[in-house]
Amino acid sequence: MRFSVLASGSTGNAIYVGTDRASVLIDVGITGKQAEAALQDIGIKPEELTAILVTHEHVDHIKGIGVMARRYNLPIYANQKTWAELDGQIGTIRDDQKRFFEIGEKKELEDLGIESFGISHDAAEPMGFCFYHDKKKLSVATDLGYVSSKIVETIRGADAYIFEANHDVEMLRMSQYPWSVKRRILSDVGHLSNETAGEALSDFLQGQAERVYLAHLSKENNMMELARLTVKNILEEKGLKVGDDVHLRETYPDRPTKLEEL
Ligand SMILES: [Zn+2]
Ligand SMILES: [Zn+2]
Repeated sequence: MRFSVLASGSTGNAIYVGTDRASVLIDVGITGKQAEAALQDIGIKPEELTAILVTHEHVDHIKGIGVMARRYNLPIYANQKTWAELDGQIGTIRDDQKRFFEIGEKKELEDLGIESFGISHDAAEPMGFCFYHDKKKLSVATDLGYVSSKIVETIRGADAYIFEANHDVEMLRMSQYPWSVKRRILSDVGHLSNETAGEALSDFLQGQAERVYLAHLSKENNMMELARLTVKNILEEKGLKVGDDVHLRETYPDRPTKLEEL
């Protein structure tokens, strides 16, 4: 299984996951053009894509979905409540391109196993995904207000995680955001702070050289170095050696991460 975080952050999100037979995008919150350029950067032809999965209907996750689905004739998988929100936001999608993927469901797209799980976030019915191929597992969890024990149960045991570290709580508190927005981000239907992310990760990482991609960083209220340091300190307090037991990786708002093979 190969994957790359094509773009990540409050400005737009997209992930590529592929095997020899399946080639999927998780969200396209960047433009079609940006998605094509990012895929080209990692050596993937967009013509090879086989499906798009949608986590939720916020614009930083769906901006380029309609364009990519029409241009490459791709089926889009989302749950029923998310579809109700997508209709009217992503242009015309043929009925046979509309597929349903409900929370808690497991599907096989060619040789790629996919399991969805519900997350707490202020969207219609947001979800995350785990991917399985050849005894390897990749878990994707961003846009969540807190990490429930149910989520931990589903995502644990992965070889790699794409995990949210959205904001530094102090930076957010000091920022010029209106209080209502701050309260929303900090709430349990908002986003994970660096600290909450570190604590959650330290609860389930096993120290088997898992790779953790810190994702969905806020442009205004976070910095990659701060996110990395905060998570690193928490993991090391719990006895996990970063760079050895666990590898922390960066993601970028405007360029893809190196295509990683699991
Ligand atoms: Zn969101
Ligand atoms: Zn988002």
